Amino acid sequence: MKHEPGKTAAVIGAGLGGLALAIRLQSAGIATTVFEKRDKPGGRAYVYHDQGFTFDAGPTVITDPECLKKLWRLSGRDISEHVTLLPVEPFYRLCWEDGTVFDYADDQPSIERQIHAINPPDVEGYRRFLAYSRDVYREGYEKLGTVPFLHFSDMIRAAPQLARLQAWRSVHSMVARHIKDEHLRQAFSFHTLLVGGNPFTTSSIYALIHALERQGGVWFAKGGTGALVAGMVQLFQELGGTIHLDSPVDRIETEGNRATAVHARGQRHPFDMVASNADVVHTYRNLLGDPKGEKLARKRHSMSLFVIYFGLRGLRPELRHHMVLFGPRYRELIGEIFGGRKLADDFSLYLHAPSVTDPDLAPEGCSAYYVLAPVPHLGTVDMDWDKAAEAYRDRILDYLEERYIPNLRRDLVTVRHFTPQDFKTELNAHLGSAFSIEPILTQSAWFRPHNRDERLENMYIVGAGTHPGAGIPGVVGSAEATASLMIGERA
Ligand SMILES: Cc1cc2nc3c(=O)[nH]c(=O)nc-3n(C[C@H](O)[C@H](O)[C@H](O)COP(=O)(O)OP(=O)(O)OC[C@H]3O[C@@H](n4cnc5c(N)ncnc54)[C@H](O)[C@@H]3O)c2cc1C
Repeated sequence: MKHEPGKTAAVIGAGLGGLALAIRLQSAGIATTVFEKRDKPGGRAYVYHDQGFTFDAGPTVITDPECLKKLWRLSGRDISEHVTLLPVEPFYRLCWEDGTVFDYADDQPSIERQIHAINPPDVEGYRRFLAYSRDVYREGYEKLGTVPFLHFSDMIRAAPQLARLQAWRSVHSMVARHIKDEHLRQAFSFHTLLVGGNPFTTSSIYALIHALERQGGVWFAKGGTGALVAGMVQLFQELGGTIHLDSPVDRIETEGNRATAVHARGQRHPFDMVASNADVVHTYRNLLGDPKGEKLARKRHSMSLFVIYFGLRGLRPELRHHMVLFGPRYRELIGEIFGGRKLADDFSLYLHAPSVTDPDLAPEGCSAYYVLAPVPHLGTVDMDWDKAAEAYRDRILDYLEERYIPNLRRDLVTVRHFTPQDFKTELNAHLGSAFSIEPILTQSAWFRPHNRDERLENMYIVGAGTHPGAGIPGVVGSAEATASLMIGERA
């Protein structure tokens, strides 16, 4: 049934998924109000401004720009009115401690040349892996990435394809079937970490990320991901939408099988429909007081991250925009991040050097960075990050200085960090998880919290905790799936 005109909707949380949903609803004529807990929109894509430097707090790798462009086209607009997307090449530079370097971009001859230099037989294996990745991209992303899985029958319908693609295998095992060299196995399996998945346990369906990057490229918003967030907010407001910042919702009021209002800052706001972009455990446990919150709390949650934002005097032209710095251990380290008993002594890092693409993110003659280390969430290792953070930060900066950024300390202008504890307190993230519920097969599609609640007929979920999952294309895809239900395009 198509929605009737004059309807109102609340979206709780101004993360990328929440904003994408709000744009879709407002474009369809549903008067939409966004309530955001923090002082700025963006959620994980928050922005810090320190001493003339602009630091994106979270997502920096924009894949599938088409999913963003679609949001503007809904109202006959064009993304270029608000946001300029710049291509990033190479997509990533991958570095290992033994000096091996791999530049990865949508350039088949260059990829094959580099693979050949490392292990010639793996060129053929890579071609087979790429074909597999393209196959799962078509089946898993293009066909199912924006479709809600509300009924078990939806899962049954997808089952033959999942079986054909051997979705029960892990991404790493699928890569290892085709590629023998250890560096290359890491190079083509680490991507699941970008959406909170352990490459050794995440379903091989997530191998689609490789094809997604090859197909749509890797992009960066001029001015940073914060400029994308600002553009989405502007579009939403120009369409007539309302956004309240500094407005944590503390309760979703229900009556029978309906959500009737949200309560924020001591006020009751009635709505015809409510969607939550906040953490799913927080939504069910704290906002709805639903026992399902405890059930969701017991699911496996993605790892957390420790992020250091820093600005330096001088430029570092030898660096690339996105760099993955593999440490001495891969399988063992990842095992400890997802299930160890303490914080490991070593780390693997993602280094973000956006000034390479956009010099305006730092004052004249300076450059902006962040570096992140995947770390256990608070349910895996419940440590006191307030005490541990500074020493851990210093170890990472020392490591960078020694291997990749000489004179880092000498040229340091500003530095701040964000810990698993901050994910918990700032973002209401259960256990401080950076990516919500872990994307293993038994927690994906129908097995993930649904885009619409099973009991409350006008209560919806959007963002990393619902189908299809975390990452910009994931949460923007979830907005499409959820909007299709709210607008009444799907039953
Ligand atoms: C450091 C980092 C790097 C990343 N890098 C990439 C990348 O390069 N590429 C990529 O595609 N993905 C990346 N990701 C993943 C991606 O950022 C996230 O999956 C995505 O942004 C999550 O969006 P979301 O819609 O789920 O909302 P979130 O960003 O989780 O936002 C939820 C919002 O809800 C608000 N909220 C919570 N409780 C309440 C309440 N009670 N009332 C009101 N508001 C509330 C929060 O304040 C927050 O603003 C990264 C993530 C992190 C943390």
